[in-house]
Amino acid sequence: MSPSVSRSGHLLKQEVTSLIQVERLIEYIMETAATINSTACVINTANTFMTLMTTLLAVRSPNISPLDSNNAEYDFIIVGGGSAGCVLARRLSEIHSWNVLLLEAGGEEPDFADIPGLALFNSENSLDWSYRTVPDERSCNGIGCFWPRGKVLGGSSVLNAIVYVRGNPEDYDQWEEFGNSGWSFKDVLPYFIKSENNHDPSIVDPNYHGFNGPLNVEQFRHLDENAVTIVEALKELGYNEGDFNGAHQEGLVLRSQHTAYNGRRWSTNRGYLQPVRYVRSNLKVITYATVTRILINPQSRVAYGVEYILNEDSNTVFTVMATKEVILSAGSLNTPQVLMLSGVGPREHLEELGIPVIADLRVGYNLHDHTYSSGVVYLLNETSKLHCSQEENDYLEYMTTATGHLASTGVTQTVAFDKPQNPDDAIEYMFIGCENFTFATEPYWRCAVRTTTATVFHPVGTCKMGPSSDTEAVVDPQLNTLLPRGDTLQGLPDEEYPTHRGSDHEGENSSQNHDLPTLSQADP
Ligand SMILES: Cc1cc2nc3c(=O)[nH]c(=O)nc-3n(C[C@H](O)[C@H](O)[C@H](O)COP(=O)(O)OP(=O)(O)OC[C@H]3O[C@@H](n4cnc5c(N)ncnc54)[C@H](O)[C@@H]3O)c2cc1C
Repeated sequence: MSPSVSRSGHLLKQEVTSLIQVERLIEYIMETAATINSTACVINTANTFMTLMTTLLAVRSPNISPLDSNNAEYDFIIVGGGSAGCVLARRLSEIHSWNVLLLEAGGEEPDFADIPGLALFNSENSLDWSYRTVPDERSCNGIGCFWPRGKVLGGSSVLNAIVYVRGNPEDYDQWEEFGNSGWSFKDVLPYFIKSENNHDPSIVDPNYHGFNGPLNVEQFRHLDENAVTIVEALKELGYNEGDFNGAHQEGLVLRSQHTAYNGRRWSTNRGYLQPVRYVRSNLKVITYATVTRILINPQSRVAYGVEYILNEDSNTVFTVMATKEVILSAGSLNTPQVLMLSGVGPREHLEELGIPVIADLRVGYNLHDHTYSSGVVYLLNETSKLHCSQEENDYLEYMTTATGHLASTGVTQTVAFDKPQNPDDAIEYMFIGCENFTFATEPYWRCAVRTTTATVFHPVGTCKMGPSSDTEAVVDPQLNTLLPRGDTLQGLPDEEYPTHRGSDHEGENSSQNHDLPTLSQADP
């Protein structure tokens, strides 16, 4: 079942939208049910899911825009409708005289992806690019890690764990120290505030939060019993309960807030794009449209359009022109790919692939990610996950009141920030594969880090931001790609982090998840 597309690229019938939704629903249910069956409850899961999903689908069934004619012209073309792309589409189209096109490789955001308790199941299916890291002996237990990235309107904000963490002020101040003027914490704070609509004013510092923005933020409606225990235990150890998105982070613990509203995920698609998508005639969104190349004039180095293909017909290449800017917001893994396909990247690599070089830049380097150790597992007295025997009740409760187990992500709703003074104070634990090393020596930690680390899905920095004097930089502090003589190709924003502070740089904990920095950077 796929939508019929005429040769000129127009959808023959708007009604195909509902077919696409049903198709994606069935795809999702089959994938999800298979995963659940193999890991947890077998009985009734698929049936219960079917009931749940179809009910939710009936409540809200989003539509898609008709496709565009070839060689159409826009003021701005945005490549990638993820966390950043949805924000950009909304903000740019506020200027009524500007025509804005958003091209997204994935499809509509399904309503069933809103359920916090099922967040894990939004990965490794058709909503995900389903990348894996290349196995090597220095990470991910030697077998590679799965590396989800959203392929759907809303991008990774549809897959993520929706924890609302902006990051440590020192990170931003360090960006400015690196020569990126305008990126200190005091400079970016107004944009965090502008984007936010915080629904728990009693637990946050009002000087650091917004209450009128498009991004809803709230604590989960369901309090996991283990989350309570952890908060209490950390308080006994001297942590204070406080707002870690306020003035300070260290030593604070909180049942975190989430980008959610009334018990449901609040992606950037929901918050920014949907409210304006069918209201503004100067904004067009095309889904299932994968951009394969940015058109850049090799003499002037100015980007003037893009080529894209539709999922249903990868043989037909569509061209669309930009009179002002092409903005790349395809995420930290795909943005470098699109740039390189367009001739912007490391010369030796492009020549190897026979791609004519327009600018020799360090695209794809400087990748940073957050890691965790998969080596230590704690056994809890009470389980946080759904009980098979309760699942029908859980689904029913969630569907009727958006509360209960499915209204939270379990124990991960607790976040604490620490600055370990002495890593040798760690619990003595001998990682499998590191038994030949003496505990807490440098060779031991090297072994532990290399064999047991996995990603927590925060890759950044692949189009590094920096001043023109920085030979590693790909975009300048205004996020224009550093193409000699050209200035109209913008990169945003997961991919442009200069670095994020991590134990490998500063001997301190990495400090943030990336959805908030990403969307607030897109929001100015
Ligand atoms: C599993 C997971 C859990 C996470 N948990 C959290 C969390 O709890 N809190 C937090 O703050 N952050 C979290 N993050 C990180 C956060 O979600 C990302 O940093 C953020 O969403 C990245 O935004 P982006 O706009 O750069 O990219 P994305 O949101 O990934 O958007 C990129 C978009 O571009 C599209 N695209 C790619 N290539 C093309 C192409 N060639 N043509 C057209 N479109 C294209 C993609 O389909 C996608 O929609 C998590 C991420 C993951 C994956």
